[in-house]
Amino acid sequence: MVKIGQVLEGCCSDQKVTVRGWVYRKREGKELIFLIIRDSTGFIQCTVKKASPCWNEAQKLTIESSLTLEGTARQDKRAPGGYEISAEDISIIGLAETFPISKDKSEEFIRDIRHLWLRSRKMNLVMKVRAEVLEAARQYFRSQDYTEVSPPMFISAAVEGGSTLFGLKYFDQDLYLTQSSQLYLEILIYSLEKVYCIAPSFRAEKSRTIRHLTEYWHIEGEWPFADMNDLMRFEEGLMEHVCKSIGEKCKKEFTELGADISKLSAVKVPFPRITYTEAIDRLKLKNPPLKWGDDLGYEDEKALADEFGKPFFVYDYPTAIKAFYCKNYREKPEIAMSADMMVPRIGEISTGGAREDDKDLLIKRMQEQGLKPEDYEWYLDLRRYGTMPHVGFGMGLERLLVWMLDLDNIIDAIPFPRTTRRFYP
Ligand code: ATP
Ligand code: MG
Repeated sequence: MVKIGQVLEGCCSDQKVTVRGWVYRKREGKELIFLIIRDSTGFIQCTVKKASPCWNEAQKLTIESSLTLEGTARQDKRAPGGYEISAEDISIIGLAETFPISKDKSEEFIRDIRHLWLRSRKMNLVMKVRAEVLEAARQYFRSQDYTEVSPPMFISAAVEGGSTLFGLKYFDQDLYLTQSSQLYLEILIYSLEKVYCIAPSFRAEKSRTIRHLTEYWHIEGEWPFADMNDLMRFEEGLMEHVCKSIGEKCKKEFTELGADISKLSAVKVPFPRITYTEAIDRLKLKNPPLKWGDDLGYEDEKALADEFGKPFFVYDYPTAIKAFYCKNYREKPEIAMSADMMVPRIGEISTGGAREDDKDLLIKRMQEQGLKPEDYEWYLDLRRYGTMPHVGFGMGLERLLVWMLDLDNIIDAIPFPRTTRRFYP
């Protein structure tokens, strides 16, 4: 048994091969049946001649039937992929009923039957790149001595503010799904120092945009005795490593997906950095009502990012628009030590910053934001026992993929997207 990808790489030209997979396309002529067979590694054209002993089996085959096919592999310039197998034996494993996906089906219909659409070449390739991005991110964290940890998804107090919080009944108790693992990573730095996790985060996002899911995968890092410069240096190092690694390993996937791989080689440290104040000054020309103190919207971020044409940071946001845990500059308390990484077309893909390490200031920030300090006793304990300056960030895996692969919508960056309307299958 060989994988189709091996045949396409020329492993067994003019040799007898057996492949196993599914029928992707079938075209039947009087004397010849063309089959396209797919497995996890690729698609290959197979031909069945009328004189072949497997003609009858080939006739029975329907789209998405599973089968084993034996034949001779040959280089053939006319075949898509450059190789073809002339079939000598076919054994049907599972004869498929009429497959509901065909070329004329609408985007909406395809989204409704995601469990079948995941077999498509596009989704197969995106999922492979996704796995490589995860691998490369882990590699980078490890190379910098970060320990991977596993935070909980059920939580008892909000991280990012009530408007996007999913509540749930936990036996007799009201709990939430976590919006970020940050607060738990903050616990673990007191033991392990540099930590990271790659885990789901949940946001009850009502708006339908190309960059929001209700469940997404969050790449988060947190570490002690570090400042804003350390933070941005780490994040850009991570991004450079991931882009370099994907640029080397996923050329085939980018080509087949029609995604521009050249943007990856343009990702080099150090990234440009501009302050929030400078961002506002630049954006006022395009968006006159925007004033200092406003949060940047998608259109603003996109406009800025398109100017840079590559990843960059916006840092030092107003404290008033940041979460309670953000540390501010003591001499300028209206400015928070925070930094967002932006990329073209998408805008924000990560938010990071220094965390408030003074217990009393943290309590004050909670009260200003209408949060009850008693709900965060354990978080305050971290400031009571051995507090220190520390930083961290969270990057959305799917946003990173949307940018890398030039995807139109974030729902194609995850196998089972969850949005306001989609939770099936
Ligand atoms: P936005 O303002 O774009 O909604 P945010 O500032 O609320 O994002 P953060 O709390 O900073 O998001 O989350 C850190 C990162 O997680 C974001 O930079 C983004 O990459 C990703 N992220 C946040 N919310 C979502 C979501 N609903 N779907 C997918 N990714 C998300
Ligand atoms: Mg953010």
